Amino acid sequence: MTLESDLARHGLSLRGVAAVTADERKRYGFAAGERAIALVGNVGSSYWSAFTAAPEFTDGEPDPLDRWSERVAREISDRHPVTPLFPFAGPPWYPFQQWARRAEGIGTSPLGILIHPRYGLWHSYRFALLGAAFDAGSPGDAVASPCVACAGKPCLDACPVDAFDGEGYAVDACAEYLDNTWLAACHDGGCLARLACPVATELRYLPAQGRFHLRAFLGARAHPPAAQTNVP
Ligand code: SF4
Ligand code: SF4
Repeated sequence: MTLESDLARHGLSLRGVAAVTADERKRYGFAAGERAIALVGNVGSSYWSAFTAAPEFTDGEPDPLDRWSERVAREISDRHPVTPLFPFAGPPWYPFQQWARRAEGIGTSPLGILIHPRYGLWHSYRFALLGAAFDAGSPGDAVASPCVACAGKPCLDACPVDAFDGEGYAVDACAEYLDNTWLAACHDGGCLARLACPVATELRYLPAQGRFHLRAFLGARAHPPAAQTNVP
């Protein structure tokens, strides 16, 4: 089974490949033969059916998506000559956002979420695989972020508590509103600011996935992990 088909069984794909830099080799202790970092993630709700069928989804333990990602990555690394790296299990905290920029044409949106020219805000990176080389094509030419030509920037006007001003994310205002407003539309299908983006609307997360991310965000606020909190 190829690496790509192994990942596809879980609704995941090789999103792009970044070359290991000399600084990263030294900082993280990567071996000489480990020359490439392949980012693995989802496009739209591609992993949702695999994840919701997995034991982690219903076992009642914390961080089901991270635990599922970790198990899948470790099983795959048993079958292929790769080492898994995770964005949620530091230290070390690996620079996934930097790797994403080097691996594929991706930019930062006013929401702080990485925006992809074709996938919009509807994608994420679950883990990376470190190895000698990957056959994942080239990242292609740099493409301007869709945000550059987005005149109205509707994402900045959709949040009921104006959590985004184009400069940052008022995470406390968002969480307080969600905690105190159980009829808020965000609870039904996810963050309204993210849903307001006109790019790749066909890839919007399923409402159940949107609700899952929002609950995970509120749960992480109650039991904060060491890593930075993301937009739900
Ligand atoms: S609504 Fe416009 S500015 Fe906001 S994330 Fe989408 S493309 Fe970028
Ligand atoms: S989930 Fe999004 S739209 Fe809803 S309050 Fe938070 S930032 Fe605003």
